[in-house]
Amino acid sequence: MKQAVDSRVEPYTRGFERVLLSLAALLPAVGAWYLHYFEIGARVFHGPRIHELAIGISVLASGFVAYVAIRCFASSGEVFLRWLALALVAETVIYAPHGLFTPLAHDHTALFLIYGPASRFGMAILLMVGLMRYSVPAVPIEARSRRFWWRGAVALVSFDVVLGMVALLYSAAMPVLRLIFEYGALLITLIAIVLMLMRPKASPLMRIYTFALTGFATASIVFIFARPWTHLWWYAHAVFAAAFMLLGFGVLRAFHTTGSFSGVFSQEELMRRLRSEKERAEVAARELMRANQRLEQLAATDSLTGVANRRRLIAGAQRECERARRGRTPLALLLIDIDHFKAVNDRYGHAAGDAVLKRFAEEGVAVLREIDLMGRIGGEEFAVVLPDADSDEALHVAQRLRAAASAMVVGDVADPEFRVTVSVGVAVLGADGTDPQSLLRAADHRLYLAKGAGRDRVVGVNCRLQTG
Ligand code: GH3
Ligand code: MG
Ligand code: MG
Repeated sequence: MKQAVDSRVEPYTRGFERVLLSLAALLPAVGAWYLHYFEIGARVFHGPRIHELAIGISVLASGFVAYVAIRCFASSGEVFLRWLALALVAETVIYAPHGLFTPLAHDHTALFLIYGPASRFGMAILLMVGLMRYSVPAVPIEARSRRFWWRGAVALVSFDVVLGMVALLYSAAMPVLRLIFEYGALLITLIAIVLMLMRPKASPLMRIYTFALTGFATASIVFIFARPWTHLWWYAHAVFAAAFMLLGFGVLRAFHTTGSFSGVFSQEELMRRLRSEKERAEVAARELMRANQRLEQLAATDSLTGVANRRRLIAGAQRECERARRGRTPLALLLIDIDHFKAVNDRYGHAAGDAVLKRFAEEGVAVLREIDLMGRIGGEEFAVVLPDADSDEALHVAQRLRAAASAMVVGDVADPEFRVTVSVGVAVLGADGTDPQSLLRAADHRLYLAKGAGRDRVVGVNCRLQTG
């Protein structure tokens, strides 16, 4: 029920999610508008030290984020990320002089101011290049050389130097160049935002990226209107810083996950994958369990006759001995050997011998109770664990097994005269010992006595000899 309601509500929740994000992205612009219109007079806050400090911190921060982005690229080779990293390097290298030249703000205003818009312009261009190369396959690991970064850094520092010289030589032209940079950055960023909004299935990091772009665009607009040291001008710095922090957060997320921007899954996608992986794991675990049970069964069974093999019989005997000791109940063990079995093989062939073994196992299981355990412990030698059976009862069961053997008709042996007999040795818990080994030893001794006495007979405790 909940599911059905949820899926009906979902279009609205998705829509509202988009509305919330868009409003949050536009809020800084509302703040700028408010400041611009309601500020009383053109208040200024002349704080060069604070400006230096703020730019210093932001250059250090952007330098670190640029480094992390470079590490991300080294691990994923994502082309988009390479250009994003270079954009961050540009932001760091071009923005630094803006802080450095704060003391010259009064005498060389043009020199002081030009690096802000220049850095935003440089960053916008490089971010745009990254977006244009968004779907390009990852750079192979051997091609992720450091040369790209060195060349980029040299180009950016040269740009700084040339720009400084131009600003000093043609300071009159600087306001125009400033506007060209600022409008250029704004235009490119807006195009980038539109491109991003046209990608409906962007990864969560790309959404953060788009969010940051709107902050950069807002900052550019506000810088166009703001005169230096006014609150609006400071505010533009704050908007830019906030957008930058978001972008930095995105880079750190990439570093902590896939090392790429496009390869990070949304939470919804992760949950979906998690669910299907969990289902697969559960199915695999069930299959494994079944296979294990089959394997265990196979490992414990004698392949020819289907009764327990030696290992399983001894383990079962051990368990039953312990249970009988705890519950002070009797327990008996029979050791059965087919008489002159070699002669059966010799006369009728090995296959007929096998058929005899199989038939005898079937007869045995039919004679025994559910709780008894029969196993083949050697070539033509069987053992039976009889829980809750005392000496008399064991003798009784042994006689029935002996009778069943001699009455047995084996389909594979055509000879109507054919007859098999078995000899049986009996042992009981207590008188003959307390563990399977002692019981087997005692039963084996009595089996030997039965053979010596002429075969086709049972030797019980106290060496009571019984024939049919
Ligand atoms: P006894 O009455 O003294 O027990 O004589 P026996 O011939 O039964 O005893 P012996 O130990 O001399 O021979 C056992 C024979 O059982 C020899 C072996 O070829 C045969 N045998 C052992 N395992 C198998 C089997 O898996 N299939 C067949 N067909 N014969 C087997
Ligand atoms: Mg034998
Ligand atoms: Mg034998």
